[in-house]
Amino acid sequence: MSRRMDRRVFIVLLLAGCADPSMTPPAITPSAIVQAPTISSILESQSRSEPSTVATPPPVSPSVSSGDMTFDNWRAQFADKAVAAGVPVAVVQRELAGLTPDPTVVSLDRRQPEFSRPVGDYIKGVISDDRVALGRRYRDDLPFLSDVEQRFGVPRDVLLAVWAMESAFGKIQGNNDVIRSLATLAADGRRRAFAETELIAALKIIASGEATRAQLKGSWAGAMGQTQFIPSNFDPTAVDEDGDGKRDIWGSNADSLASAANLLAKGGWRRGEGWAREVILPANFDYSLVEGPRDPWAAWQARGVKRADGLPWTTADAAAPAQLLLPAGAKGPAFLALPNHFAIRKYNNSTAYALGIGLLADRFSGGGVLVTAWPVEQPLSLADRMSAQGALARLGFDPGAPDGVIGAGTRKALRDWQKARGVPPDGYLSLDLVKRLSLEAANAASATPG
Ligand code: CA
Repeated sequence: MSRRMDRRVFIVLLLAGCADPSMTPPAITPSAIVQAPTISSILESQSRSEPSTVATPPPVSPSVSSGDMTFDNWRAQFADKAVAAGVPVAVVQRELAGLTPDPTVVSLDRRQPEFSRPVGDYIKGVISDDRVALGRRYRDDLPFLSDVEQRFGVPRDVLLAVWAMESAFGKIQGNNDVIRSLATLAADGRRRAFAETELIAALKIIASGEATRAQLKGSWAGAMGQTQFIPSNFDPTAVDEDGDGKRDIWGSNADSLASAANLLAKGGWRRGEGWAREVILPANFDYSLVEGPRDPWAAWQARGVKRADGLPWTTADAAAPAQLLLPAGAKGPAFLALPNHFAIRKYNNSTAYALGIGLLADRFSGGGVLVTAWPVEQPLSLADRMSAQGALARLGFDPGAPDGVIGAGTRKALRDWQKARGVPPDGYLSLDLVKRLSLEAANAASATPG
């Protein structure tokens, strides 16, 4: 799965949206349905239809309009799509009837965080004392961990770090009805293809009997259980570790951690290798190598790179292709990221997230203290980020769309500008750099005859 670093990195408090019942259009009455029995018409006529063919049907919700015509129209066409995709008619009709959109989900999906947190602050938040203490206790207390390590080749400390980050060791799984959240996202349309695929996968889980609708709880974005799997990850990846015949990523710690191990193994986790090592770069280092080639240790050593803790590399780690990362720029710690770092990014495609998992895992095992400290920085506001992008564009270094997101395009434009100005081209946008860029762009504008 490729999830963004959004909800983990930025904690946004917002008021839940309130639906105003006085604004809703009148409900469509069943007598209005005269069409051939498409699934959508079955939905509408649910309240007067035959009992469901499912063995023990839960109470069927009355088939009233959700009060939102966009949602009802989406639901009608989706119902046919779900059946075409192989979800049993009875399940579609039972689970979609009575469904209403959740306005909170739309608000959360649309929000844009005002401030981007510096990566060092984020990592410090990840490695809290409470979390480290709990992880250290669990690593010795959970008897199934040895078996999971042997089966999947992923060390317990990494699994415990994922568990800590995804659901606070299973304690915070999200209490949203996954079906309702995904239906809301699908009807809203911004991420319809993703949400419909996930909704069909979720309906198939219910149809399989492995989990009930009531058990299918998760985050507002549809990530479920202790592992925060999106529904399409469940069938190919979830594991019954405790042997009770069900893959229970909500209630079983053993199933959850084995499922997380399986996801990492499928994502390319390499047994017996580490995830990254902190390194020290020589003076006058060629920063164009950052986020660049994936070379074995010998090639990095030849460029003057040293391991920060001075310890030797294992044979396996030294032979593995490693990429140089400078998550907080030239002033912050540098890392050679091994293939297992990229396997963690299959869980959440964010460098900061994967670093957080790795560093937290190192702390669980008693290490993980960095030699180079994270620089202390102020958060950049959306306006800061957009003004830097605008300045780069005006100065002839195209950062792509000025959207306030500092992605690969902006980092490349920044590196090109830094090279042109004789600044170490680490591609890292600090507040100092925002100010310098804005000033230069303003001066360039005033110098232009107009
Ligand atoms: Ca089980």
